[in-house]
Amino acid sequence: MDPASRSSVIIVGAGISGICAAKVLAENGVEDILILEATDRIGGRIRKEAFGGVSVELGAGWIVGVGGKVPNPVWELAAKSSLRTCFSDYSNARYNIYDRSGKIFPSGLAADSYKKAVDSAIENLRNQQETDRSGDFSRDAEPPSTPKTPIDLAIDFILHDFEMPEVQPISTFLDYGEREFLVADERGYEDLLYKMAQDFLFTSEGKILDSRLQLNKVVREIQHSRSGVTITTEDGCVYDANYAILSVSIGVLQSDLISFRPSMPRWKMEAIEKLDVMVYTKIFLKFPYKFWPCGPEKEFFIYAHERRGYYTFWQHMENAYPGSNILVVTLTNGESKRVENQPDEETLKEAMEVLRDMFGPDIPNATDILVPRWWNNRFQRGSYSNYPAIINHQVVQSIKAPVGRIFFTGEHTSERFNGYVHGGYLAGLDTSKALLEEMRKEKERNSQNQSFLLEPLLALTLTQTDSSVSGSVQHKSDIPNHLHLSGKLSIPGPIS
Ligand SMILES: Cc1cc2nc3c(=O)[nH]c(=O)nc-3n(C[C@H](O)[C@H](O)[C@H](O)COP(=O)(O)OP(=O)(O)OC[C@H]3O[C@@H](n4cnc5c(N)ncnc54)[C@H](O)[C@@H]3O)c2cc1C
Repeated sequence: MDPASRSSVIIVGAGISGICAAKVLAENGVEDILILEATDRIGGRIRKEAFGGVSVELGAGWIVGVGGKVPNPVWELAAKSSLRTCFSDYSNARYNIYDRSGKIFPSGLAADSYKKAVDSAIENLRNQQETDRSGDFSRDAEPPSTPKTPIDLAIDFILHDFEMPEVQPISTFLDYGEREFLVADERGYEDLLYKMAQDFLFTSEGKILDSRLQLNKVVREIQHSRSGVTITTEDGCVYDANYAILSVSIGVLQSDLISFRPSMPRWKMEAIEKLDVMVYTKIFLKFPYKFWPCGPEKEFFIYAHERRGYYTFWQHMENAYPGSNILVVTLTNGESKRVENQPDEETLKEAMEVLRDMFGPDIPNATDILVPRWWNNRFQRGSYSNYPAIINHQVVQSIKAPVGRIFFTGEHTSERFNGYVHGGYLAGLDTSKALLEEMRKEKERNSQNQSFLLEPLLALTLTQTDSSVSGSVQHKSDIPNHLHLSGKLSIPGPIS
């Protein structure tokens, strides 16, 4: 092995967590890093695409958690980039619920249904907590009422798949505030990542030209031992490093894309398997003109169908891009997987039928459709992690704990903010700090070992070369200069 080609740290994945971890390492003097990214771009699940004359966000779209006592770090990055955003308010969506004949449900009915769903969710959580506390899993808790009517199903969907997918209270809202802002900028949400990358990678004319970022490098195998890691990519390249940071998604960790030699320990695999993967798909539709209501409190609207989650949640993009004539419908989990596996023309047909139910037969056909496929993407295998409502703290610790020289990062390792961009960002910070600490300790251990190994040698050398001090205690200051435990004799550590 050519020692010159050995990096201090290889970071696998260039999403926000990987880029953030790399930046912190570089800022702390660990500059011989290498970032291996499977795709041809940085950003991962933060990804824009040109559609219908504007820039749409296929992955993360909102900066969630703004306006609280503590500033959300992603909101701060957005401000630094002067990213254009617009305020989103979902709370009125429940008053814009259409039935299949295009009538809007009375607001009283929607409010009752919403209250019923919230009560049932809270009861369900209490039951689970009680079962967890008592440890009596045989006791059948009273099952919470299951939604059956189209309006109840629609409300259940927006509550569980949008507003309350996570354990209450929601840490993001507690810490950073309850406001959410949609990124509406031609440069895309991903501009934040380019700005971060610019701080430590060589860039020119908006392009990253630094050889420490290697794109189109699909990591397939990680060998690890007490002395280092060896990473093999799909194109047959082999890279050596002292440490690795793995920032791939929980879906990728649950798949067989990357094999480990030796395999991951059981505690790690069991923890990885415990996390759910949420699939969340925003389907974009472009129209020749708009036919949906606009104006205050009309940004979001709901379609109530007997099938839960069937083209339920709609948003127009007039606030973000006035005159763009774009609608977005969001599907999740089973419905996401179903449409991913069918041709886009079929999805377009289904979406148009739903829109004609709501707005009548005379509306124009969409001229274009965009269906992201996060589930079938082997570098993602889903949209984000979803911690079970009751999760053992130990499981979270195991998910982020390093295995030997492999450190783990990514939104799924953030106990408080998993599933969010700020979760990925903060995970990157945490992991790199933990690794820097480990590197510091390793350097310390090495120099201790070095002195331990050198002690007898020194004693021997000194008795032979300086008989005048024989019998007296030899102090470090008495040792001839060339034998001092200088940087030259100690093993060079990764932190300069
Ligand atoms: C549809 C959707 C909507 C979302 N909406 C929001 C939102 O509105 N607000 C919000 O805050 N969050 C949202 N999120 C979540 C947010 O996008 C993620 O939490 C965050 O971007 C995750 O960053 P990460 O660095 O952990 O992972 P990633 O961004 O997934 O980075 C991991 C990187 O690893 C690479 N990789 C994978 N396998 C390999 C391999 N074998 N070899 C090399 N590289 C590999 C991937 O290509 C990727 O670039 C959304 C996500 C999705 C998908």
